[in-house]
Amino acid sequence: MRTRRPISINNSLVHGICNYSCRLCGVNKTNYRGPKEFQPYDVTKTLIKRILEAASSGIYVRYVAISGDGEATLHPEFADRLRMFGDMLRGWDASIMPPPEISVVSNGSSLYKPEVMAPFKENSISLIISFPTNDAESYGLIMKGDSEQGEALLSRVLPGIEKAMALRACGQLSKLYFHISPPEIEIIRRDFPETINCLTEIARRNELHEIELVLFPATSNRSGLLRNSVTSVEMYRDLFKRYNGQAVNGVKIRMQLVVKRFFHSRVEIVDLVRSFRFPCLWNANFFIAADGSSICCNDQSVRNPQGNILNESIETLMQCKERFLPDEVCAGCNQSPQNLKGSFQAVFFSLIARLRLLFAKIRS
Ligand code: SF4
Ligand code: SF4
Repeated sequence: MRTRRPISINNSLVHGICNYSCRLCGVNKTNYRGPKEFQPYDVTKTLIKRILEAASSGIYVRYVAISGDGEATLHPEFADRLRMFGDMLRGWDASIMPPPEISVVSNGSSLYKPEVMAPFKENSISLIISFPTNDAESYGLIMKGDSEQGEALLSRVLPGIEKAMALRACGQLSKLYFHISPPEIEIIRRDFPETINCLTEIARRNELHEIELVLFPATSNRSGLLRNSVTSVEMYRDLFKRYNGQAVNGVKIRMQLVVKRFFHSRVEIVDLVRSFRFPCLWNANFFIAADGSSICCNDQSVRNPQGNILNESIETLMQCKERFLPDEVCAGCNQSPQNLKGSFQAVFFSLIARLRLLFAKIRS
């Protein structure tokens, strides 16, 4: 394995099953042909075993996000699975390697239930809530394709956010982030001041002094499953300038782009270009489907598995990714590094990625 940067793993505990139908997600759409399954026990167990083996051999797994192409909290053994990751953290030998941050990404619809929230505090699991807007019409439109459902959806999500912030404020939740996603850029921008106002107001009520937001620069068409008119990245520079580090309702706002979460520095981007024949940001981290398949983050239908965690180590699976060359899945993908545009950094990275790919093709 050539990769030297810390590794992130996205584990799709639930794949193809969700109580939402976000406009930019293939799940619950008529042309979705991918799996619809809850992750079997053996896959979760093996994944944890592989993470421990990787740490013993000197590979630093920095993040494990329990999320993916389905709503994780719907898993019938959700609490047990979080306990398995909690057990891993409790038994972790930090003298060998720092432990990964374990998080769950949720649409927030079930967090009001005590049995869903309890395993977060019992197992030191971070919570990431997808919350693009607090405007009822926009929320319904983005998350269900129906503006009229927004109010009912928010009436379940907001109490969960309230509960999460209360737990975070008294130190019972290890971390709490809000994904301003799916990134419907026009709506995000238009509603952003009110979204901030809503979140900081809940935080203030619960004596939480800071909130953390993660913004998504690019809209994904999930490798062609959906039509997407936005073809360039959006860095939200004006929003960062206006809000990042500032206080609203007495609550400090921290903002980061999702790319920064997975690539902490330019050195890690350079490592990607050096290590991968096709340096694609979204294939650079692990995405484990419910059955253990290692796929590109955007291969929502699991059309092109690059190995399986049940059979191969993290090191071997990373070598598969490093060897990967664009295929028919990439042909319909709007996030190919070859297509990136919208900022100087994106265009520069795109150019470097093309050169790297050309070099790899010449050599092969
Ligand atoms: S983006 Fe997430 S919450 Fe939305 S439909 Fe897809 S899996 Fe469900
Ligand atoms: S270009 Fe290919 S590898 Fe990259 S995100 Fe798209 S489908 Fe995945």
